[in-house]
Amino acid sequence: MNPITQLFAIRYPIVQAGMIWCSGWELASAVSNAGGLGLLGAGSMYPEVLKEQIQKCKSATKQPFGVNLPLLYPDIDQHIQTIIEEKVPIVFTSAGNPKTWTSILKNEGIKVVHVVSSAKFALKAQDSGCDAVVAEGFEAGGHNGREETTTMCLIPQVRQAIHLPLIAAGGIGTGKTMLAAMILGADGVQVGSRFVTTPESSAHQAFKEKIIHANEGDTLLTLKELTPVRLLKNKFFNDVMAAYEQDAGTDELQSLLGRGRAKRGMCEGDMEEGELEIGQISAYINEIKPAGDVVKEIVEEYTQLLKTTSLERLKIN
Ligand code: NDP
Repeated sequence: MNPITQLFAIRYPIVQAGMIWCSGWELASAVSNAGGLGLLGAGSMYPEVLKEQIQKCKSATKQPFGVNLPLLYPDIDQHIQTIIEEKVPIVFTSAGNPKTWTSILKNEGIKVVHVVSSAKFALKAQDSGCDAVVAEGFEAGGHNGREETTTMCLIPQVRQAIHLPLIAAGGIGTGKTMLAAMILGADGVQVGSRFVTTPESSAHQAFKEKIIHANEGDTLLTLKELTPVRLLKNKFFNDVMAAYEQDAGTDELQSLLGRGRAKRGMCEGDMEEGELEIGQISAYINEIKPAGDVVKEIVEEYTQLLKTTSLERLKIN
């Protein structure tokens, strides 16, 4: 049996990333109902909003779902309390030290998965008692590792370093890319960008439309002096590039970024001034498709490719 489907008691080892401003209860429940694992993105939710979202998700699915919790979230104690009170069975943590909260969550019977961008941090997550690790490569949208390790290089390295179940992320959104990640050593995948362009995602419609028209090279990892983030190019992105050309320091970049840019772009639909976090695979995405159909399509393509006829051309002797 697959270690990820076993760990979460789900049908397919496909996790929908808990993305800020995009992953609300409609998306998470749709993915869980389709046999994957849906995650609520708690990073952009005030404590009372997270509580409400969890309750709505529970009403919309009887299948397991989880919460993605960035450990740098300002009111993290309140989110942790809500998660425990609402008996959320699975938590994905990111952007922080997994030692701080893992044992507290695990003592409540919650499965804990930590998101990392290097083998070193994967070992740290394992030492902290996590149940699994998400290794996210350079291709991924939004906040990302400084080292720029691609999924292709990251997954085998993490696989070698740890014995925990491993979920690959970054550049994965099709059956073919899922199969590649599994061949590299992953037990399952986390998909973000493809689920942003579903009707169930809470991203603004203008953002969804911009993604489906994005081409190769339209996203870049930037603002490494602050928190590295992969953004879709727009006026704000160009302003950042212009600031670099004028040798802007960290303080100037921070003041250019300001506060709430991600909300302005992804939630409110300001395609010029907002921060538009999306992965490299956006170049491949060209339609808005229901989340359940995305899961089905990935599973079908993966299964088809596994059949020997499709792999015939890989034989080299
Ligand atoms: P900003 O500081 O620019 O803005 C904070 C945003 O989060 C605002 O839009 C605010 O909404 C909303 N928010 C939700 N809950 C709270 C709260 N308790 N206190 C303050 N603001 C809150 O942050 P970003 O938009 O860049 O990042 C948003 C979130 O994304 C971060 O709080 C963090 O949780 C997460 N993040 C995750 C990372 C990762 O996983 N690797 C890395 C970086 C950030 P409003 O405008 O309505 O007040």
